[in-house]
Order: sequence, then structure tokens, then C-alpha cells
Amino acid sequence: MTSFPIEQVRADFPILQEKVRNKPLVYFDSAASSQKPKAVIDAISHVYTHDYANIHRGVHTLSVRATDKFEAAREKVRAFINANSTKEIIFVRGATEAINLVAQSYGRSQLKAGDEIVISAMEHHANIVPWQMLCQQIGTVLKVAPMNQQGELIFEAFEELLGENTKLVAITHMSNALGTINPVKKIVAAAHAKNIPVLLDGAQAIPHTAIDVQALDCDFYVFSGHKLYGPSGTGVLYGKQTLLEAMPPYQGGGDMIRMVTFEKTEYAGLPHKFEAGTPAIAEIIGLGAAIDYVSGIGMANIAAYEHELLVYATEQAEQIKGLNIIGQAEHKGGILSFTLDHIHPHDIGTMLDSLGIAIRAGHHCAMPVMDFYGVPATARASFGMYNTRQEIDILMQGIKSLIEVFG
Ligand code: PMP
Repeated sequence: MTSFPIEQVRADFPILQEKVRNKPLVYFDSAASSQKPKAVIDAISHVYTHDYANIHRGVHTLSVRATDKFEAAREKVRAFINANSTKEIIFVRGATEAINLVAQSYGRSQLKAGDEIVISAMEHHANIVPWQMLCQQIGTVLKVAPMNQQGELIFEAFEELLGENTKLVAITHMSNALGTINPVKKIVAAAHAKNIPVLLDGAQAIPHTAIDVQALDCDFYVFSGHKLYGPSGTGVLYGKQTLLEAMPPYQGGGDMIRMVTFEKTEYAGLPHKFEAGTPAIAEIIGLGAAIDYVSGIGMANIAAYEHELLVYATEQAEQIKGLNIIGQAEHKGGILSFTLDHIHPHDIGTMLDSLGIAIRAGHHCAMPVMDFYGVPATARASFGMYNTRQEIDILMQGIKSLIEVFG
């Protein structure tokens, strides 16, 4: 194993001291939502204890302090994903809201009936349904790039879908159901060669990989704070400034205006044009703390450590007879989706819970992926930077005991 400060990291996450069913918690559900380090919990608590007021509209000290911290978090996000400007960082509630924003604002203003939107066969519902809604509203057409049995995008088939009518590509950076990491740089280059903008769903990739939106050259990048060890209710839409400037607001209300009369409204500039109403102030500041935290550990270190965990878990899982790994892409993040012969995934989840092990069982909001593999659901163990080999051993032992009793 590389030298990763695992003991220190684990000590930073108070919840890891919890017992579940009288057993030490083994948390393998970070793909659904990750746990929070004390730095994030403290940052939120500190805001509410010392700095809290509504932002952007007050002259009093607390409002200025809260505003400064909120805007400092925007700068942290900008630096974290290497965006060109804080104008390109829109705070939203999560990846879902960010995709809906692009579908409704960009989609409705820039696309028309007959235009095609290309997604992939491994998308989360959050990157399917908003486009279907847009298609119903304005007559655009959804095209789906296929994947192979390993759960990898069939790149040639994807490229073939990019035609004269393709006006947007929206694709996941990393699949939440399979762990597949898509060749996003190649995807963007292929789309841009035909002048097609690209939205990348970074909800899963963001806690596992360093993101450089300028190097990727993607047009939109979306993610949720709660998967990045930050608070729920926070998310980010990155968009290239020229695109965002051409887009109408998504929601109307306070904070997104320059001037309002009953006759007309002049909108604020970026990023505020897209941030109507009071945001999740303390939580966004908490997201800034999460970014400080992961940056302190180093995204490259996190990626290397998690890769070793995944390789180890995969080797162990492959030795268990009756365990089928769903999704065997060459490039994968820390997700092990599997089924067991003769045991329903929900039963796997419930029985592992009795051992203190938290995994997720279900369709993972990716029903088309389940259909592709002909399974109703999978069990999914997903890894965060706080997991260990010992925990993987506990998981594998738990799975073996299930197979012995019920398999
Ligand atoms: N896309 C992917 C790939 C995801 O894994 C998720 C969350 N499971 C989302 C989008 C939606 O994220 P949220 O629910 O935080 O908006």
C-alpha cells in the first residue's frame, strides 16, 4: 500500500467511531453519500455560532462576514476544479438541480425540435429524466450511446451518434452503478470536433479524481457537495462563461436581479443570475471546508489509495464462488457492484447491516443499467478515502457467511 495517512483520516471522521448493531461501523455507502470530517462539521457549527446572517444584502457585520465566507467558498470551488473565474461557479442544491438547470435554461433557449441530445447507457436518472422532460417540452430527441458487457462506453458507437442534429452531449464522468470511469477528455474532443457542447456529470468522479475543467475543456461540469465529504443541499454547476451568459435564469426571485419594476426585471450578472433566493449558506461554507480538507490530503493521494482498495476488493470478490461482479470496466473508481446467486440484493444489504456493514442494494437510480444486465438490483459496496483493507476483509467474510447460510 502507498503511505496514506489512513489513521489520521479515520480519526477525522467522528461517525466512524459509531457502533451499528453493536459492531464497529463499516461504511461502504459513500457513493450514495459520504461521511463528514470534523473540519466540515465544525465549519458549519462555527458559522451558526459566530457568523450567521443572510448574505449579499446586508451592511451589518454578520451579513458581511457570512457573505465573505460564502464567496470564499466559491473561490475554493473555482480553484479546486480549475475554472477560469468564480463567475463560472453556480451554487445549486446538488448535481440533480444543476442538470435540470442546464436542461431548462440552456436546453429551452438553445435547442429546438428535432435537435438531438446524446447521453450514455450508464446514466443516473438525474442525467436521463431532465432531458426526457425537455424532449417532451420542446421536441428534442434523446439518443443513447451503448455500453459493452464490461460496462464501458462503446466509443465508436458514441461517435457515430454525433450527427448534424446533435446539439448536446450529457454524459457521466463516473458511473454510480458500475464504477466505470468514462474517457471524458476523448468524449469532449470528439464532440467539440463537431461543435457540440458537453455536460459532464461529475457527481461520482468528484471525490475520487482531481478535476481540471479547463484541461477537460467540458462546457458544463456538475457535482454534489455531499459526495465530496461536504454537506447535503450543496452542489455546483460549472459552465463556461460565454455559455452561462447566453442562458436565461432558471428561477426568478431575490438575489438574482439588478432592478425590478412591475413592468420588467433586469437580471444580475454571473453567477448571481442563477442563484435566486437564500442559498444553503452554512452548508456552502461547509463545502469550502470539505474542499480544504480533501485538498490537504491531496486528490492524487486519495485516488491512488482508493484504487488500491478497489483492486484488493475486486481480487477478494473474484475468489468468492457465486458472487458476480457487475461492471468490470478497465477504468473504474471505488465501486464494487455485485449480485450473489440465489440471494436477493436487498437481503444481502439487510443481512450485512446486521454485521454493522453499510452497503446499498437497489437499482441505484440507474434502472436502465439494471435492465441491461437483466438484474432487478445489485448490491453495491462503494469506497471512500476512510475505508481500509481490514474493512474489505470484514465485508468479504460477511458475504461468505451469507452464502454459507442462504446460498
Ligand atoms: N449523477 C450521478 C452519477 C450520481 O451518482 C448521483 C447521486 N447518486 C447524481 C447524479 C445525483 O446527485 P444528487 O442526488 O446529489 O443530486
